[in-house]
Amino acid sequence: NVRVRFAPSPTGPLHIGGVRTALFNYLFAKKHNGTFILRVEDTDQNRYVEGAEQYIIDALNWCGMPADESPVKPGNYGPYRQSERKAMYKQYADELIASGNAYYAFDTAETLDFHRKDHEAKGKTFIYNWHNRLKLKNSLSLSAEEVKAKLDAGEDYVIRFKSPQDETLHLKDIIRGDIQIDTNVLDDKVLFKSDGMPTYHLANIVDDHLMEISHVIRGEEWLPSLALHYQLYQAFGWEVPEFAHLPLILKPTGKGKLSKRDGDKLGFPVFPLEWKDPKTGDVSRGYKEDGYFPEAMVNFLAFLGWNPGTEQEIFSLDALINAFDLERVNKSGARFDPDKTKWFNHHYMQEQANDELAKKFLPIINEKLNVIQSGSEESQDGISPAGGNDIDVNYVEMVVALVKERATFVSDFWGLSHFFFTAPTSYDEKASKKAFKEGTKDILKEVVSIVNAIDDFTVETLQTNLKGWITSNDIGFGKVMMPLRLALVGALQGPDVFDIMYMIGKAESVARIEKAVA
Ligand code: GLU
Repeated sequence: NVRVRFAPSPTGPLHIGGVRTALFNYLFAKKHNGTFILRVEDTDQNRYVEGAEQYIIDALNWCGMPADESPVKPGNYGPYRQSERKAMYKQYADELIASGNAYYAFDTAETLDFHRKDHEAKGKTFIYNWHNRLKLKNSLSLSAEEVKAKLDAGEDYVIRFKSPQDETLHLKDIIRGDIQIDTNVLDDKVLFKSDGMPTYHLANIVDDHLMEISHVIRGEEWLPSLALHYQLYQAFGWEVPEFAHLPLILKPTGKGKLSKRDGDKLGFPVFPLEWKDPKTGDVSRGYKEDGYFPEAMVNFLAFLGWNPGTEQEIFSLDALINAFDLERVNKSGARFDPDKTKWFNHHYMQEQANDELAKKFLPIINEKLNVIQSGSEESQDGISPAGGNDIDVNYVEMVVALVKERATFVSDFWGLSHFFFTAPTSYDEKASKKAFKEGTKDILKEVVSIVNAIDDFTVETLQTNLKGWITSNDIGFGKVMMPLRLALVGALQGPDVFDIMYMIGKAESVARIEKAVA
């Protein structure tokens, strides 16, 4: 029975590394008909950030991977926020003390700081474990009466795990294989504090056990905690889940861990959704708002550390569920390539329904036309929005169908298609030199009369009549098509000329050609 959890701390927005962890958990759960759980690890009240939990839920939903059990969709293992489970943890800390696996420690921050600095000065590292614990103030060095007196007096304490001496731990990781750890290098980690809150380690293990988590899939940064986690399971006498630590995500250069600042520097988002910091008001870009499709995001994230072992690169979420396998996740860091994310987006652009794209494009068109009509730039004459003032969605849909092949984002559409909505006000200079030659005027005038003579104004008749005229008069295609395109578009770009003419209509086509020869 596969049960996996994504266990973020709500300390800010999820970065793509977090979303990748969620995705791999989701894929693994769905592949094995298991359950994907969202557990919010909010025991550290100092780092709690308003809105972060909602952001996490929204991000998972946007990617199409909502949790089966979560704070907003409780299952039988709730609550799903650690702050709401607070009362449960103390008894487990007590249990470890009773079994001799943990102990009270009363050292002040100043004492610990002193020891750290003292060791440093001697070129050593201070480790709170069997090396030092008997020299410090804790229930292993003090008498039972002294400990009781301190607790009764309400002194601040922590509960530490008692890491054993001279043992070798044998840890297992699905991705990294067998790992051996000498317990002498481990320190006695804090599990519980006198403020009544467990630390990450205790809460995490207790909850994974109580929630019957079968596989722990998380980032490589948690690998150093694995030894302690193993020992906690052993100390409680609980079954150890399987572990898989996902590789780091590296900067585009391949050197070093990807950071938020890399995104700002190189111009790509590192968050799935836009995030407004509640304290500073700073806004960080999101993939969604930058015009990425969730399918593209999911697809590129899947390849950060995993590959199918074939040449196939395009995977829908369902295809990923089918193909995914933790055995095919790499140990070594995965280089993040922002160009590749665009490549994926261009691919998924082609798969979007044209009516959906048209709905997203329409407000952009209206905004652009408003700017033009409000008389700012060279908008006085010659401008005639081909669709009229209220643009027909069906028309936009047809435009989208013609240009999306060359678009990566919806925001590319206007640059690729403005001439469907507004006549050119100027002609690209270089293109004009190339296209407008001696005799061009006469040719275009002839085109006007051919076009005017067409009653049944379709792409086919346009094509037949104009091409027929060109061939029978032996004019040369370029001599006609280049200036014609320039007259219609203002530059030597765009889809097929006949498609453009058909779309903007006979009157508008004629008007634009006449303007070009005037
Ligand atoms: N709360 C931890 C985090 O923020 C969870 C780590 C884990 O999955 O064990 O990533």
